[in-house]
Amino acid sequence: MTIAHAWAAHEAHGPFAPFSFERRTLEPNDVRIDILYCGICHSDVHFARGEWGDPHYPCVPGHEIVGRISAVGNAVTNFKIGDLAGVGCLVDSCGHCGPCGHGLEQYCEVGSTGTYMSTEAQSGLPTYGGYSNFIVVREHFALHIKHEESDLPAVAPLLCAGITLWSPLRHWQAGPGKKVGIVGIGGLGHMGVKLARALGAHVVAFTTSPGKVEEAKRLGAHEVIISRDTGQMAQHVGSFDLIINTVSAKQDLEMYARLLKLDSTLVLVGAGTEKHTSPDAFTLLMKRRSIAGSAIGGISETQEMLDFCAEHGITSDIEMIPVEKVDSAYNRIVASDVKYRFVIDMGTLPTG
Ligand code: NAP
Ligand code: ZN
Repeated sequence: MTIAHAWAAHEAHGPFAPFSFERRTLEPNDVRIDILYCGICHSDVHFARGEWGDPHYPCVPGHEIVGRISAVGNAVTNFKIGDLAGVGCLVDSCGHCGPCGHGLEQYCEVGSTGTYMSTEAQSGLPTYGGYSNFIVVREHFALHIKHEESDLPAVAPLLCAGITLWSPLRHWQAGPGKKVGIVGIGGLGHMGVKLARALGAHVVAFTTSPGKVEEAKRLGAHEVIISRDTGQMAQHVGSFDLIINTVSAKQDLEMYARLLKLDSTLVLVGAGTEKHTSPDAFTLLMKRRSIAGSAIGGISETQEMLDFCAEHGITSDIEMIPVEKVDSAYNRIVASDVKYRFVIDMGTLPTG
């Protein structure tokens, strides 16, 4: 066991504060990553504030982790000391069930192990995330980073925000000739706009924030719709091949379902705390429209996404903060006041 230092939530409404805990000793297939930067996902806020059920405190969030390999177990073959590496939302899964066999570890039938707020099979210890100075993880769950090292802070959000949009964009075949809507231009949504554009789709951004219209175009949207403007929404009825909704709050799904054309899909990735309003059955059945959900992405598709982003020069738009600013960053995320992802400089973590 080695002592790790972290920045933790100690109660649902208390401030973050230092916390130390033990990480497991390196096993043969493990790598140790010294964490340089960690993104802040809205899921961190939901977890740390107890919005998705009672977390066990102290809670160390963080699943947009990038850093450098500082040790490798004696059976590790894919990484060496000094490599840049990332960890997303998953640190383990059974490896044997159908979904694991298809590289869909996030849908593991035994239950995948989350980077935080889970229990690790190896030690029975709680998992603690990336607001910490290092992490030990099976090499299968570590990702290679091929971006320039100077891009590293802006690569961190790809590990959750990037893959959570990449997976449904690929699964529902976003590309040339497809009209793709991205709802909510926050951490996930701004990556959705960039990725859908790079995949060749016609991209339409939906926002509640008039101040984001020009921004969304800069990010790659061909069109931007103010979703509270019923006149603008009405012009797009029955026209979309795919809409991905990233909003972290309750939504009226009827207004998005109506925008789909025959046989098209509204995918929910946002996961607030209140139930959405269901669309009318006729809205769905008259055009054989579907509503689906999608959770993050598997390890091989995460690597595929990172490689695609490195090749196409895609990173996240970020605001870097020291650990002391995590509480105020959470408040700003809830107020939709971030362009478009906070990333913590882990060099600011007290380790004394
Ligand atoms: P975020 O940065 O806070 O972005 C959410 C965006 O939704 C906001 O920027 C805002 O965009 C819009 N929004 C917020 N409140 C709204 C409201 N009341 N009505 C309409 N629009 C609203 O959050 P994020 O990190 O992108 O995460 C989004 C959600 O996805 C969270 O619930 C998170 O837990 C979930 N998530 C799911 C997965 C998964 O695997 N499915 C993975 C990661 C995160 P505009 O200003 O443009 O309207
Ligand atoms: Zn996340």
